[in-house]
Amino acid sequence: MSHAPANTIRLILGDQLNVQHPWFLDVDDDVVYLLMEIRQETDYVLHHAQKVIAIFAAMRDMARQLSEAGHRVHYLRISDPHNQLALEANLTAVLTHYQARHWQYQAPDEWRLDEQLYQMQRPIAAATGASGMMVDSAHFYTQRDEAASIFAQRKSWLMEHFYRQMRVKYLVLMDSDGKPAGGQWNYDQDNRKAWNGKPGEPLDLRPQHDHSALWQEIVDAGVKTFGQPQESRLRWPLNRTEALEQLENFITYALPHFGDFQDAMSTQAPRLFHSLLSFALNTKMLSPQEVVQRVEQAWRHGNVPLAAAEGYIRQILGWREYVRGVYWHRMPDYVTQNHFAHDAPLPEWFWTGRTKMRCMANAIGDSLTHAHAHHIQRLMVIGNFALLAGLDPQALHHWYLGVYIDAFEWVELPNTLGMSQFADGGMLATKPYVSGAAYINRMSDYCKGCHYDKAQRIGERACPYNALYWDFFARNEATLAKNPRIGMAYVTLRKMSEEERAAIGQQAATWRAGLDRL
Ligand SMILES: Cc1cc2nc3c(=O)[nH]c(=O)nc-3n(C[C@H](O)[C@H](O)[C@H](O)COP(=O)(O)OP(=O)(O)OC[C@H]3O[C@@H](n4cnc5c(N)ncnc54)[C@H](O)[C@@H]3O)c2cc1C
Ligand code: SF4
Repeated sequence: MSHAPANTIRLILGDQLNVQHPWFLDVDDDVVYLLMEIRQETDYVLHHAQKVIAIFAAMRDMARQLSEAGHRVHYLRISDPHNQLALEANLTAVLTHYQARHWQYQAPDEWRLDEQLYQMQRPIAAATGASGMMVDSAHFYTQRDEAASIFAQRKSWLMEHFYRQMRVKYLVLMDSDGKPAGGQWNYDQDNRKAWNGKPGEPLDLRPQHDHSALWQEIVDAGVKTFGQPQESRLRWPLNRTEALEQLENFITYALPHFGDFQDAMSTQAPRLFHSLLSFALNTKMLSPQEVVQRVEQAWRHGNVPLAAAEGYIRQILGWREYVRGVYWHRMPDYVTQNHFAHDAPLPEWFWTGRTKMRCMANAIGDSLTHAHAHHIQRLMVIGNFALLAGLDPQALHHWYLGVYIDAFEWVELPNTLGMSQFADGGMLATKPYVSGAAYINRMSDYCKGCHYDKAQRIGERACPYNALYWDFFARNEATLAKNPRIGMAYVTLRKMSEEERAAIGQQAATWRAGLDRL
């Protein structure tokens, strides 16, 4: 590393690993790229070990790639004695070291970093004389406030409306006459099959990395984590080349079945036909545009069904951009939302997976083992239980933000607080995503062999989801009964006798009083 003076320091955050950013088009000796492994980023919540390892490893790989391309790079490892382990202190020291006059950063995706970097500009200017400037991260389809302007004249923030606007604007899956490909905007109805073992889950072709030495550095630095580190066989892509290979493997082997089994769950196949590309996307190794274009191309070449391509594209062009818009529209207050005033602490087994509920043991077990669980496990097993049991949505938000390899607040918070916990009162979800055992049994093999009986509502061996489900609707009748999308639940509830309702209430209270024992 050359210590010659430089005019500009460009800061690269751990989720900004986009080697295709316009910054890197030219090699300029007057620019030094700064990456740092710091405690504020390891410690803002308790993180899964794999998340800390994978982000640091990918940052180190990014530094390698930039150096090999001829750029000047200043990298502060967590074990480096010069690393002050804090953003402002490190940046100030590096600016002083290179006698730099300017520093630049890409627009952060998280509110806390956006605020911090903005607030840092003045003290840094006072200390070093250097001026700070934010540039676009050149990653998303939409601007931070674009969703808000799309919904400005509308009463509700329906994702489907946003998604169709995106399809038209970016000409994705559109016919030349301006109609959606295949005549339909959305093939969600076709995407609800359970999985009986066939077709088989594709082989896991992701790379396998040994990061034992890095893990030791993290441990020695005193960083606290949870979950399995898998440090000698880490399976996450750590650079663009690996991420592109994973995308191609997904398109060839899994995408053809993605649509059919998008909502299925299995103890035998934790990945099923999902792409596991969220880490590469959220750290910006891949752009959403290139993923969407490749998937559309696979359909146009006749390699995957339209329902699969549309279902997958909707997640990225629709949900991913949409939740980001919700986040920037509603922050910073969004994080405090708690529509149902739920306040129960998370049961101990959220950190171990040791519960007699087989669905939760599997979904949490997958999360702790792989730092990943797929959407329906997150929504209809873990989130569903949390909402029915009345868990504190902020505590749950911190758990989700820590446990998943892809969790960054801009995408995790609207999904957890909004979609899964209805804590925003229904801005993002048109109804609470809750179910009893029947749904979980239909979509998975969890209930077979479970300690609890999926068919019972009352009794020691009755499935806890059942009483909690009916009690949730009974407790919230005043607000939820008016919702046309859940009217049927109230029709059933009202047909129950007083005794039945009382027994359900009592059973639910018993479960809630002993969550740690479930
Ligand atoms: C409670 C809860 C918390 C979640 N937290 C996160 C999170 O922290 N980070 C995250 O990226 N996703 C989150 N999701 C969305 C989704 O579960 C994950 O994106 C997905 O499971 C990642 O695995 P995959 O790459 O195999 O996804 P696939 O099923 O292969 O989907 C493809 C891609 O679509 C995007 N996507 C799918 N669903 C969503 C969604 N609801 N919102 C935004 N993007 C979506 C992701 O980029 C994903 O990689 C959460 C969902 C729920 C219900
Ligand atoms: S019976 Fe209930 S607790 Fe057991 S796996 Fe099924 S839904 Fe989960």
